[in-house]
Amino acid sequence: MNSKDLPISSHLASGREIISVEFSPPRSDDAGRQLLETAKILKERIVPDFVSITYGAGGSTRARTEEYARILRRDYEFDVVAHLTCVGSTREELRTILREYRQAGLRNIMALRGDPPKGEANFRAVEGGCAHASELVELIRESEPEFCIGVAGYPEKHPQAPDMASDIAFLKKKVDAGAAFVTTQLFYDNRFHFDFVKNCRAAGITVPILPGLMPPLGLEQVLRFGKMNGSSVPAELEKRLAAAAGDAALERKAGIDWTVDQARDLLKNGVRHLHLYVMNKSESALALVDRLEEEGILATRRR
Ligand SMILES: Cc1cc2nc3c(=O)[nH]c(=O)nc-3n(C[C@H](O)[C@H](O)[C@H](O)COP(=O)(O)OP(=O)(O)OC[C@H]3O[C@@H](n4cnc5c(N)ncnc54)[C@H](O)[C@@H]3O)c2cc1C
Repeated sequence: MNSKDLPISSHLASGREIISVEFSPPRSDDAGRQLLETAKILKERIVPDFVSITYGAGGSTRARTEEYARILRRDYEFDVVAHLTCVGSTREELRTILREYRQAGLRNIMALRGDPPKGEANFRAVEGGCAHASELVELIRESEPEFCIGVAGYPEKHPQAPDMASDIAFLKKKVDAGAAFVTTQLFYDNRFHFDFVKNCRAAGITVPILPGLMPPLGLEQVLRFGKMNGSSVPAELEKRLAAAAGDAALERKAGIDWTVDQARDLLKNGVRHLHLYVMNKSESALALVDRLEEEGILATRRR
């Protein structure tokens, strides 16, 4: 057992301000060293309440997701959320992965459907697999009921959903199947988040909803991500990033300024959780937390 080993639901029920950080499994040993260096820096400075580690498209990083989830838990003493998708795995294979996660001492899972393979518009479950994240939540509940489960939510609706109402109805299905919290897709305009939370509550979704923030690194990046995940880019952000284009430091500063404004507004309006997509790097997250602490918006987090 590490020092905490708590289900995420306990963190979220504490009433404290919660900051969580999302990592992606590295593709090389060098990238792995960078991830762990980032983890060390963030652990000392930001003291994340928990971290999550994604699961690669098509299950391509399965072994690395598990390996780094183990390391982050055992050596860095983080409470870890290991992601898992339905892509390419039968239910039997998913049960095996869940068993391995449990044997590694993990107790939190992000249950996702995953994206269709590149070039394909629609997701198709493998024979004997799960077609929707709600089915994966059910499978986890049946086979490893002690896991605390998170699921994905989309403040601008999932790109394949015909409308927000049906997307939220399917989100409710995931929560009713046993999810304890929702983490959102990144967004750059808080109005989407506030409306999303209001609509979720009206639909009877009562679990915590953690807003996903990603400090933009440049215009090209936000436009590319927007195409991939449906996060729209406000005209003002586009203008500021375009004005900084070509100077990486200025672009990063414009991005951090934007995320500081978002985080300040969220926290001032009663939001208690921030989930940071850090791209395995520490600089933007450190700058964000420094600024929020300086302004007195966030209580000091340093140990
Ligand atoms: C916080 C977060 C973390 C993520 N982490 C990863 C990761 O680690 N690895 C990865 O590959 N991807 C990840 N993704 C991306 C995610 O896999 C994609 O967005 C994927 O396209 C949908 O996954 P989902 O779990 O939301 O699917 P679902 O909840 O199954 O929803 C997918 C679509 O199907 C619809 N739908 C849901 N249930 C039904 C139903 N019963 N009948 C008909 N339609 C239905 C929904 O409205 C939606 O349009 C993440 C996304 C987020 C927001």
